[in-house]
Amino acid sequence: MSMFIVPSDQSDEEKIEKVIIIGGGPAGFTAGLYTARAQLNPILFTGNDIGGQVALTYEIENYPGFPEGLSGTDLAERFQKQAEKFGTRVEYDHVLELDLSQHPFTLRTQFEKEYKAESIILAMGATPRKLQVPGEAELTGRGVSYCATCDGFFFKDKEVIVVGGGDSALEEGLFLTRFASKVTIIHRRDQLRASKILQKRAFENDKIEFIWDTIVTSINAGENGAVASVTLKNVKTNEVSEFRTDGVFIFIGHIPNSDIVKGQVAMDPDGYVITNRFGHTSVPGVFAAGEIQDHRFKQVSTSVGQGAMAAMETEKFMAELEDKGYEKLRQELLEEGFLPA
Ligand code: NAP
Repeated sequence: MSMFIVPSDQSDEEKIEKVIIIGGGPAGFTAGLYTARAQLNPILFTGNDIGGQVALTYEIENYPGFPEGLSGTDLAERFQKQAEKFGTRVEYDHVLELDLSQHPFTLRTQFEKEYKAESIILAMGATPRKLQVPGEAELTGRGVSYCATCDGFFFKDKEVIVVGGGDSALEEGLFLTRFASKVTIIHRRDQLRASKILQKRAFENDKIEFIWDTIVTSINAGENGAVASVTLKNVKTNEVSEFRTDGVFIFIGHIPNSDIVKGQVAMDPDGYVITNRFGHTSVPGVFAAGEIQDHRFKQVSTSVGQGAMAAMETEKFMAELEDKGYEKLRQELLEEGFLPA
């Protein structure tokens, strides 16, 4: 239950929106831009992480059209500005419940507002995966971090470790060398998953060292209550050791933010929403875009593309809905085998 109580607005409760977008990252704002331009008058809920993960990225080098690169916050602000320019209504509120069992769909928010909508675009993204080792939760904000851009500055001339072997670990590890005196990347295998260009940069950086075939089994506090060391285990030799460090940056992948649709739309075992190749979920009128349904590409550029696709399919769905009504359209889509099971 929310601590924030705002008087509910009667007119909001009775109105049925054409489209509601849940999530304010690249996929959500692109869906906002397209559905607004299609005159669907969308509402977009930002959730608590405004801008999504991209807003936490120091520099984006691979978003086409910006050859000099730009900061994640800058790009996120541009996405929002462009979506609003065409009429997307942005609500700084978090969707807590979504009921897809009846059409129009109903949702309830952290500010205790209720909305009804004829179509929904799920764009809630994903959040960083936790290591789930002793000390991690207690020391988050006291040396444990999931965002180098946010917290790197606090580690000026200090020694930090980075856990993970993917693009995020290397990219964030490289960023941390601007502040830290030494960055040790700890990876559970002896081969990195990260792209070759990032591997090359990391291997060439004097401040970066690697510890291979090793996992972190606990994060330990010093007398001041902040991170002082980690306990490591070599997975090949089983050797256990203690490694002194001032900070622990964890980049070991993501978990999709799909809780509010669990049991309502088809999902894979990891909780990613399953869509067909046009962005439809298993429920007619509910679409998904970005990292909530993409465990493979996870790029700003792909999320933007998926947001546009979901929005264009929403536009098509809304035109057919007006023609046929929900039950007939639902039957047709299900009988055609068009939607994922
Ligand atoms: P990722 O590619 O899934 O890599 C996660 C890393 O964490 C892997 O090296 C994995 O080890 C390791 N790992 C997973 N669980 C672990 C655990 N419990 N303990 C220890 N290590 C663990 O995730 P990501 O780096 O966040 O990247 C996600 C996606 O975003 C990728 O598609 C990536 O290409 C993309 N991305 C792109 C850029 C860019 O283009 N500049 C930047 C950031 C991210 P294994 O290798 O052994 O599985």
